[in-house]
Amino acid sequence: MLFFTNLTKRYTLKVKSARENSSNSIDFKGNISIMSDNEITYPDGAIKVLDKGFVRLIDAMGDDSAIVQSARVSYGKGTKTKNEDRGLIRYLMRHFHTSPFEMVEFKFHARMPIFVARQWIRHRTANVNELSARYSEMPNWFYEPDASLLTTQSAQNKQGGTGKQIKNVEEFKESFKKVKDYAYKEYQKCLSANMRRELARVNLPLSLYTEWYWKIDLNNLFHFLRLRLDSHSQYEIREYALAISEIVKKKVPISWEAFKDYQLYSRRFSKIELDVLKDMLNNKEVDLDSRIPNKRERIEFKEKISSIKN
Ligand SMILES: Cc1cc2nc3c(=O)[nH]c(=O)nc-3n(C[C@H](O)[C@H](O)[C@H](O)COP(=O)(O)OP(=O)(O)OC[C@H]3O[C@@H](n4cnc5c(N)ncnc54)[C@H](O)[C@@H]3O)c2cc1C
Repeated sequence: MLFFTNLTKRYTLKVKSARENSSNSIDFKGNISIMSDNEITYPDGAIKVLDKGFVRLIDAMGDDSAIVQSARVSYGKGTKTKNEDRGLIRYLMRHFHTSPFEMVEFKFHARMPIFVARQWIRHRTANVNELSARYSEMPNWFYEPDASLLTTQSAQNKQGGTGKQIKNVEEFKESFKKVKDYAYKEYQKCLSANMRRELARVNLPLSLYTEWYWKIDLNNLFHFLRLRLDSHSQYEIREYALAISEIVKKKVPISWEAFKDYQLYSRRFSKIELDVLKDMLNNKEVDLDSRIPNKRERIEFKEKISSIKN
């Protein structure tokens, strides 16, 4: 109880002096990093993502050899030659023998817009600790998409865009800015009236940046990356998945190669699709409309075939 009382006192003092500056954050030890409205700061080792975000590696446990070491525990033989290790890792990946990949862990620190965090947090197999807007005053950092990203909605794919820019791009860029400026001004007003921070924050938009520490084992990280590097994932979270990939491929190059070969760039075919493929390879006439009657499935089949051809 005493601890909490002291902590509260410390926060009150620090918040008071920090309020004179424009935007500040306070960590659990009460350390304040003061940020002016437009100053974006990045910690050491950060890979920049989007307009104000980043990913950086905090810690990693294990590497390719930890995977083979655990896989061979049943024989008590440990690591063999590099070639044999590579063969084993590829075998494990090919046959979904996943538990040896769980022997490797990564801890990241990332800053992302809240709408990205909402997609990211759905991956339940990680450990997360997020910045709290109950303890900290949120800095004036909002995601403002580049004009090239303001594209129209696809009619076929509900999850995505056409790649064609909308009309009046500048007007809508300005609209993003206006909304976040207004929301942030009102947020500041609430804080100035000494409103509870936990309530003052609720009208801030999803474009606001948040931060977290994220720890995950390699098996679940590969699952995350397979889903979030895919073109069906939203561009913004894909950018984070790409940054994480850069870190992972350096730490576990053999596993990364196996992941690319057997998961990321592999293609799955249903029984129906395989039957069609068989006929195509045997130069038989194939009526796709009747063989794959579902339109969406047919489109996806054609996409898979063209991705192999091109
Ligand atoms: C392109 C795309 C579009 C999406 N669209 C939507 C959407 O419209 N709406 C929406 O709500 N979500 C959506 N999602 C989120 C998606 O449904 C998953 O929640 C998310 O991808 C996490 O996947 P996961 O559960 O496999 O991962 P994790 O939570 O990391 O779990 C990994 C694996 O562990 C196992 N597991 C973990 N926890 C449990 C549990 N409690 N019980 C049983 N098994 C468990 C499962 O086998 C799971 O596959 C979308 C995801 C993607 C990639």
